[in-house]
Amino acid sequence: MGSALSKTTMAPPVYIDSKSWNIPQLDFRVENLSHPGAKLFFEQIHNPSDAMKRAVEASWKWLYGWDQDKKSQTINAPLAVQRVKRITLTIRPMDGVAYTFGSDDGSKEVHFSLNHIVNSHNGDTEAKKNMRVREEILGVLVHEFVHCYQYNGKGTAPGGLIEGIADCVRLHEKLSPPHWKRVAPKGKHVPDPKKPNDPGRWVWDWNWDAGYERTAYFLDWIDTTWETWPSSGAHAPTELPATSSTASSAPPPSTTAIPANAVPLTSAPSLPKGKGRFFSALNARLQNSEWKDEVDLFLELTNWPRDALWEAYCLDNGPK
Ligand SMILES: [Zn+2]
Repeated sequence: MGSALSKTTMAPPVYIDSKSWNIPQLDFRVENLSHPGAKLFFEQIHNPSDAMKRAVEASWKWLYGWDQDKKSQTINAPLAVQRVKRITLTIRPMDGVAYTFGSDDGSKEVHFSLNHIVNSHNGDTEAKKNMRVREEILGVLVHEFVHCYQYNGKGTAPGGLIEGIADCVRLHEKLSPPHWKRVAPKGKHVPDPKKPNDPGRWVWDWNWDAGYERTAYFLDWIDTTWETWPSSGAHAPTELPATSSTASSAPPPSTTAIPANAVPLTSAPSLPKGKGRFFSALNARLQNSEWKDEVDLFLELTNWPRDALWEAYCLDNGPK
């Protein structure tokens, strides 16, 4: 077909800004090439550049709705994306798993433990060991690269939330390690002896901001279930377990998401459509606002108070 004809039948151009979604300069360093972790790394990750690029794009996708299927993006790159100019990955012998730090000139440094890579080479067969170590490397890279791109309430957001968002992206990328499970903490129901008719409250042995996969599964649960919640307290269930006879046992699973005594806002939920909805919306709120315990961002974004959501999550996902 002639180009003149196709020009006249093309749809009018839509304003797009693809230029600012730039993969930063990617640098890679190895300390101690003779370390067995370095050997494993290169056996499983043939092209470090591709692995790093994937981690960048996973961060963009789940935090900001970047779409890998579109050659040109329909949304502008947020400041958090534009300001990262260079990411240096260093694999080296060290304790721990990995950590990330940055400087004001847009350079980010990710340090990744070769010892951890060796320790991740687990499984019944050689093939399973190799698969596990490959997924662990890619999963840790995604987690650390999220730290390069996420907002943190100008440094005030709880560390557990920051780590939870990073692991939530890893979870969404299907790179969670085998020991991760959606398990809520153990709960103890505490009735108020002075108020026999009061439903009392639940006390949990860890909280929503415990961090890492514990927080990640809570954020993921909100993301995947919020559309099914009642929009008004009038439809909330009434069977919240509250009798003292259950006080010492684990809470039974609840058939519904929201506890009866939770009070939502009267307006409709305001979560955006698209990928990573809840935690990406939370991340967006952390760009300009500092974290304040008395300001419930969960309530603002979902219509339900954070404590009510946490209780519902624990009752739905507690030890069975
Ligand atoms: Zn982290």
